[in-house]
Amino acid sequence: MTQSPSPRVEAVFWFLLTAAGYFLLASLSLYATKGADNIAAVWPPSGYFLALLILMPTSARIAAFAGMAAASVGANFHGGAPLWSSLAFTVSNGCEAVVALWILRHREPGELSFMVPRSVISFCIAAFTASVVSAALAWALAGKGPDFFLSWLTTVLLGMLIVTPPIVMLARMVGTNALTNASTRMKAEATAILTVTGLVSILCFSQAQFPVTFLPCIAVIAAAYRLGPFGAAAGMLIVTIIASLLTGQDYGPIAAIEGVQKTRVLFLQFYLLILLFTTLPLASLLIGRQRLAKRLEQSNRWLLQAEAAALVGHWRVDLVGWTITWSDQTYRVHGLEPGSPVDVDYSVQQYVAEDRLAVRKILLEAVRTGEPFEFQGRILRADGEIRHVKSHGSIEMARGGKAIAIFGTVQDVSETVENARILEAARSAAERVANTDMLTGLPNRRHTLASLEKALAGARDHGAPLAVAIFDIDHFKRINDTHGHAVGDEVIRRVAQRARVALRDEDMLGRIGGEEFVCILQRSSAQAAEIVAERVRKAVEAGTADTEGLPNATISVGLAVYDSEADVEELLHRADKALYVAKREGRNRLRSAA
Ligand code: GH3
Ligand code: MG
Ligand code: MG
Repeated sequence: MTQSPSPRVEAVFWFLLTAAGYFLLASLSLYATKGADNIAAVWPPSGYFLALLILMPTSARIAAFAGMAAASVGANFHGGAPLWSSLAFTVSNGCEAVVALWILRHREPGELSFMVPRSVISFCIAAFTASVVSAALAWALAGKGPDFFLSWLTTVLLGMLIVTPPIVMLARMVGTNALTNASTRMKAEATAILTVTGLVSILCFSQAQFPVTFLPCIAVIAAAYRLGPFGAAAGMLIVTIIASLLTGQDYGPIAAIEGVQKTRVLFLQFYLLILLFTTLPLASLLIGRQRLAKRLEQSNRWLLQAEAAALVGHWRVDLVGWTITWSDQTYRVHGLEPGSPVDVDYSVQQYVAEDRLAVRKILLEAVRTGEPFEFQGRILRADGEIRHVKSHGSIEMARGGKAIAIFGTVQDVSETVENARILEAARSAAERVANTDMLTGLPNRRHTLASLEKALAGARDHGAPLAVAIFDIDHFKRINDTHGHAVGDEVIRRVAQRARVALRDEDMLGRIGGEEFVCILQRSSAQAAEIVAERVRKAVEAGTADTEGLPNATISVGLAVYDSEADVEELLHRADKALYVAKREGRNRLRSAA
């Protein structure tokens, strides 16, 4: 566990860090790059101080300002400025830091990141405004000419723009262990690129024979391209240090410019500013593109992974160019190698002939209405297999409302379709078993009575006639007793067959008891029902004896015709009573209910 230091220790730490760094950088700048009116060409202490203010906890800022004030007065005074000027410069530099911090706090309430273009713009605005305030204050307090204002402004602005970003980024990289975690290859590449940048800068600024001041620009762009924002910032810092030091010591093409010292310093400052403002936007553009391409590639990879995992592919028809694109998973659904050439007609032809027209119709309708669509059809794959596929899609519209593309997904649902088919087959088989009498294959009692209920409701609703006939095999006990139960069963079966054949297709015959049957005679008047029932009786009488080995059997039939008041129970009861009458009057006859 790390323990945070006490506030006093923290304050002393930031005071010392600020004061020591500020004094060193200020003295070095004043010594090495004396500019117009004793101002350094670049003022790195401003950038250093702002970087520390961004990185340090808010509670340490007062101590840091004190450290900066002491170091600034000391360095300026030590560098030859009168005390009053030293104080004025210190106040100006202190105020510039306050202004920069204030703007950053308002524009970037979160952590300032040099990786985000918007934050970089905020930082540039803060640096520029702070430099203007600083220059105006220094100019007013020191009472110098207009050149002084411009010179101070450029000096401070350069100091902030060039020095703050690399310090903040480096500190964050150290803080997040990004530096330690970076691969050796990456570290070697960074070292190589920054060393080359330094060497190119030395080559450029140590001689005046070849004016190759554009070379560092290429080096900084290369650093930005390979190492990102930190590469750009570090490259820029290296070029600035070398260019300032060598020019300050009268080396290089800028120092060789004819004219007063002031002009040379201004030239160096503008050189650095132009270098900064040409390489940095370019670098951020390059990095933005790189990042976008990487993100795009990654989302595409995720999409393909998700498609493969979910077994859903996608396709898109470009209605303008009349082309189609398939995702890898769509190819797999079609049993094809991803990337094989496909066109719109080929895609529709993949559907079996019976489904093709429907698919075309749905797509045309979707294009016409602009509505989302969904369809399921069968495709014939290259390996000859027929698969069921389901598509969902929508229409892409141009701004004017014109359909420009159809986008859809496709999924192989063969398994689901097959499961549904098996389930339906099992369900209907179970229903058949539940409704069928095993001996005769006729509807059983439950199914017969349910059908009668339905037929009665239909007759009631449509006012159609309906009759019910119950028949029972005569003296069946005797058949059983004489010939055995198995023969009895066979007789029941034969009677059922004969009766079924004698009935019309629309009549229903069911077995409701041992050797009792019900005929539902729909749309039959009393007369018609009697004719049909009598036909059944005769058919049984004539039929059973034909079959070798089977005893003769007859039936007695009771008929009841539906009148509007009757329910199923009553209707059956009346038919049963008529059957009883038929039995009593000698059997093998038909009787109708009164
Ligand atoms: P009736 O002419 O008055 O109808 O005389 P019946 O002997 O046929 O009398 P009833 O209808 O009451 O007799 C029914 C008999 O049918 C009783 C039973 O033993 C027999 N039975 C019932 N179900 C079956 C069956 O599934 N198979 C066989 N073999 N016999 C059955
Ligand atoms: Mg009976
Ligand atoms: Mg009987």
